Amino acid sequence: MPATNQSLPTHFQGWACAGKGKQLEQTELPLKTFGDDDVDMDVSHCGICGSDVHTMDSGWGPTDYPCVVGHEIVGTCTAVGKNVKDIKVGDRIGVGAQSGACLECENCKSGHENLCLKGMIGTYNGKWPSGEKTFGGYADKWRGHQRFVFKIPDNMSNEDAATFFCAALTSYAPMRRHNVTKGSKVGIIGIGGLGHFAVQWAKAMGADQVVAFSHSDRKRDDATKLGCTDYVVTSNKEEMAKFNGKLTHIVCTAYADNFNWPAYLSTLTHNGTFILVGLPEEPLAGIPAGLLAVRQITLCGSIIGAPNEVQEMLEFAAKTGVKPWIQKYPMNKVNQAIQDFRDGKPRYRFVLEN
Ligand SMILES: [Zn+2]
Ligand SMILES: [Zn+2]
Repeated sequence: MPATNQSLPTHFQGWACAGKGKQLEQTELPLKTFGDDDVDMDVSHCGICGSDVHTMDSGWGPTDYPCVVGHEIVGTCTAVGKNVKDIKVGDRIGVGAQSGACLECENCKSGHENLCLKGMIGTYNGKWPSGEKTFGGYADKWRGHQRFVFKIPDNMSNEDAATFFCAALTSYAPMRRHNVTKGSKVGIIGIGGLGHFAVQWAKAMGADQVVAFSHSDRKRDDATKLGCTDYVVTSNKEEMAKFNGKLTHIVCTAYADNFNWPAYLSTLTHNGTFILVGLPEEPLAGIPAGLLAVRQITLCGSIIGAPNEVQEMLEFAAKTGVKPWIQKYPMNKVNQAIQDFRDGKPRYRFVLEN
């Protein structure tokens, strides 16, 4: 039986951030007005993403507080609007960093909703077309548009599924788009939340060689278990030099100021591709144009992924067994989890559990 509007909740309990540097506090906040395309979810799990912390800290400009972050949200569907056909009450579902788009522009209509020409609607710190605020998954409930809600494959648990919706997608989509495949030789810069997925994707997509680039030796064993064939400590110039001209792709998940462009670009073979995931606050600096030219290197960015890529990724992961390494925290220990995240403790993703 479809739920009637009268029986639907109007509010939810979220762990809200009231301002930069403040602890999260459980707060009652309004859900958006239920629409015909909306899906309600009882949240079971939500992953913790670097973007969450960045937004709590107003790192990308002023945040609209109070803000409930979290955009790796998984749970059970509790109600659907009358236009919703593919999702039913009781289904296990998830949503990622995007919750809306105009759905009418050229990009939305051609399956690139993440590139909506009117701007994508972020799952938190955004506004629905009605002007109501969007709220993320550090919460008991979530409500949003069916286009950005996905069913979880049967052989994937909710706690594992959560982290696919941002960390995994952010690396999967550009690696597919730039054709990582059998025979590829892929370097992954940074073995963290994104990087530990990127290594597994490269292997699952058939790459011959997967090389971890890390600033210390600490993650060598983990990288091997994840599927790396080689591990390079980036301060070791001789090790770096061994890969000169060898790689077909680099996936950079750990860009920092004073990034050593010449050292990394040198590891690419001709017509190689450098994929930058993540969103540095400052313009890129120090890129050696000569090296780009003489090796015909493609340098590209990427932003999450479109709904069709989410669907494809979930199926691919279910088939190949790509799986996050997670540690769980009870939702009410969210402040401890955030502190541990800030201290660099995830190996390799934290997931909050209701
Ligand atoms: Zn994220
Ligand atoms: Zn659009």
